[in-house]
Amino acid sequence: MKPSGSTKIVRLIGYPVEHSKSPLMHNAAFQSLGLDFVYNLFSVKPSDLKEAITGLRAPNVAGANVTIPYKEEVMKYLDEISPEAEFIGAVNTIHNRQGRLGGYNTDGQGFITSLLTEGRIKLEGQKALLLGAGGAGKAVAVKLTERGVERLAITDKIAAKGEDLVGRLRENIPDCPVYAVAMSSKEFAETVFESTLLVNATPVGMKEGDPCVIDPEYLHKDLFIYDVIYNRETPLVAEAKKRGLKALGGIGMLIYQGAASFEIWTGQRAPVEVMRKKILEELSSASI
Ligand code: NAP
Repeated sequence: MKPSGSTKIVRLIGYPVEHSKSPLMHNAAFQSLGLDFVYNLFSVKPSDLKEAITGLRAPNVAGANVTIPYKEEVMKYLDEISPEAEFIGAVNTIHNRQGRLGGYNTDGQGFITSLLTEGRIKLEGQKALLLGAGGAGKAVAVKLTERGVERLAITDKIAAKGEDLVGRLRENIPDCPVYAVAMSSKEFAETVFESTLLVNATPVGMKEGDPCVIDPEYLHKDLFIYDVIYNRETPLVAEAKKRGLKALGGIGMLIYQGAASFEIWTGQRAPVEVMRKKILEELSSASI
């Protein structure tokens, strides 16, 4: 579609942003619904962040996505923050409502929609183990506990990070048993063996040559694996599949978090299959 005098702009704010697949996914979605919107990249130097956010209040801007390194820092420039983004401590989506800026985090929604629709599992009765208590890990933890898994165990390289997340989940979602477990402890092996769902939210597996995030010998047949990493099939997913386990990578999470953002900006249901096709085309042609 040609830009018109009333085209609504959505920006990706980050530094750098050139690697992002989001413009392809969102522009394909806008086009398929005939929406007069355009998604573009906005590489913002740290000293320009405040001004860049002020620019989102203009009437022709629908909102933005926010990526590394600004997901936390943007929060102080917004007028409202959703309770979920507040809990996670990070915003990945901004909506401009007549000059007032609302901040959201759609990663958890992306994860849970992908897990339920593509993984086709029920959360009831699941004993979940989460690896990584960073941004993605917090988003995953909120959704798993809100949606009623039987219990959630959390491991992070930095034990205090896992314990801190456990403490905050206990305060906010008291009905779900949550505990921290150190990867180096003997309880860790026991926890894995008792678990039915393992989610990797660490970056281990993103880079060529990365190891499997846990000892593959721990991968027992009753474990469902979800790895939030989307740029390649990780050793965790490959090892799980080799052993006949059900395993999903993070492409679905990427698509559904994008779909949730799209719905915030446009008020319309996202054309998920159009977005999926575009992302899969892009990932299969990328030299990563
Ligand atoms: P992050 O904030 O840095 O969190 C990662 C956490 O994992 C950190 O606390 C890190 O500790 C910890 N960690 C690293 N290695 C570990 C290990 N071996 N065992 C246990 N914990 C370990 O990163 P993030 O933003 O959450 O991103 C994590 C991954 O999720 C990335 O690969 C990212 O691409 C992916 N992601 C995917 C989607 C999607 O849509 N599919 C969305 C968001 C993120 P240290 O800080 O000490 O290293």
